[in-house]
Amino acid sequence: MNDLTTLTQNIHILAREHKTRHHDETTGKTTYPTELSLFDQLRLELESGRRATGTSGNGSRSPIALGAVILWNEIRETLNTTTITITGHDQPTTTPEQKLELWITTARQTNDQALTQRCIRKTTAWINAINDLINPEPSIEISGACPACHQTHAWTLEDGEYRRNTALTATITTAKCRTCQAEWARQDFENLAATIH
Ligand SMILES: [Zn+2]
Repeated sequence: MNDLTTLTQNIHILAREHKTRHHDETTGKTTYPTELSLFDQLRLELESGRRATGTSGNGSRSPIALGAVILWNEIRETLNTTTITITGHDQPTTTPEQKLELWITTARQTNDQALTQRCIRKTTAWINAINDLINPEPSIEISGACPACHQTHAWTLEDGEYRRNTALTATITTAKCRTCQAEWARQDFENLAATIH
């Protein structure tokens, strides 16, 4: 997949309603339900977090709602900064979706590689983060040392207790290191496996 295809696909998933493929094992039928854009799904998480905790200031938020707040702030900050870089001034009335469109349109028109690569990195990270937040994927532990930081294990905090886990974990789409936060996309899994063993 070339860069512009990746970008177009990422923006489609993040900012527009999109079709997903659903295969029902019992009936054998494949359907293509329409799914809300990930930005909208993240907004729904924020809303449900607000409802659950009321409006009285310092109410405790559920971890998922807190994650959604942090992530949504990061996304908006990045889009604001990029919009200012591109247009020379702030666009307070423009939606995050429009700012993302502006980013891809500018990358396309100017053929600016730095702008394109940064947009791919950011949008891919956002898709992973929103998916993790909304629908955590099952992950597996991988034994062996991380090629980036050479650690084999990492301490993680789970339900208030520190546990010693493998440094490397993987889902269907991404492998990552819990120690140094290095990440590998699915197309790099083979290389990663070769480096570990
Ligand atoms: Zn590492």
